[in-house]
Amino acid sequence: MDGKMRSLIEKLETRHSLSLAEYAYLIDRRTDETAALLAEKACMVRQQIYGRDVYVRGLIEISNICKNDCYYCGIRRSNRSCERYRLSEEEILECCAQGYALGFRTFVLQGGEDAYFSDETVCRLIGQIKEAHPDCAVTLSLGERSRESYQRMFDVGADRYLLRHETADKAHYERLHPPQMSFDNRMRCLRDLREIGYQVGCGFMVGSPYQTVQTLAEDLKFIEEFRPDMCGIGPFVPHKATSFAKEPAGTVELTCYLLSVIRLICPNVLLPSTTALGTIDPQGRERGILVGANVVMPNLSPVSVRKKYELYDNKICTGDESAQCRHCLEQRMESIGYHVVTDRGDVSGWKNSR
Ligand code: SAH
Repeated sequence: MDGKMRSLIEKLETRHSLSLAEYAYLIDRRTDETAALLAEKACMVRQQIYGRDVYVRGLIEISNICKNDCYYCGIRRSNRSCERYRLSEEEILECCAQGYALGFRTFVLQGGEDAYFSDETVCRLIGQIKEAHPDCAVTLSLGERSRESYQRMFDVGADRYLLRHETADKAHYERLHPPQMSFDNRMRCLRDLREIGYQVGCGFMVGSPYQTVQTLAEDLKFIEEFRPDMCGIGPFVPHKATSFAKEPAGTVELTCYLLSVIRLICPNVLLPSTTALGTIDPQGRERGILVGANVVMPNLSPVSVRKKYELYDNKICTGDESAQCRHCLEQRMESIGYHVVTDRGDVSGWKNSR
């Protein structure tokens, strides 16, 4: 590796910040050697903060009904071949009860933008989960809503919110979404969530159509400036019933590289090794942890709906019971010397002010 690369990596490690051009250089000149060095540094940083603990989140896919039509997403409104479902409140609470028994202390409610899940319904649900499991965190991933809605859900106890920014480049955003959707609104949501007091997660797909070194550099700069508590990145994986069916998937190598870089930008960040990474490589989730990630999100949805929450083709773990998923991941983590812990897994340094 050249001297410039070496000094950029050092700068990233000590100052957690690079210029846009420097991020672009880091991405553009990726080699196995730079990847290994970044991974080593990222693991050192993670080790100091989180040790060898891996946090688990129980993912509950509450609905695949969505008013949006994101070009990449398998549950987009215009996909007529998607068999739609929504879970009842009782089913969701049952998933949480099962998850609790399996050692989960964070539940992630994720879904399409389904009007059935009004503020009233979601707030009632959060209240019920918190009442049954007061020692658990509730994370929401329900897309774009009004500030008032985010505030109401926070006031009844929601702890965290995941809303990937998808891309920090407005023109790129517009090539991934229909004109009804707006980059500015997505950014507005992220800022509202932060101001309200959530632990906030942004993130993007690696290898999404029209992504370039430049747009990725912008993603990294955005992450540096926004300082998210969580950051979800995984490879783009095409879905057969979308406009991007014929596009190539993102790669494990670039995803892992960016995971390491993000760990160095935000040392404390909660960084999942995603299901999409496990989908494109049978060892993907282990590889993500080994380059700096510290979170895994096994599926807690009822087996009857898992195949229907198909964001992309060949999604893994759609046939397994929750207990199987949990144990499988636990073993995978042990096999590489990491331990799944029974813990809410808040971001390091977080003071719960409730
Ligand atoms: N409706 C919610 C949840 C979206 S699904 C929201 O808007 O936030 C969660 C994430 O899955 C998305 O943010 C997107 O980044 C990712 N995703 C969607 N389609 C995908 C695909 N084809 N390949 C990989 N990831 C995908």
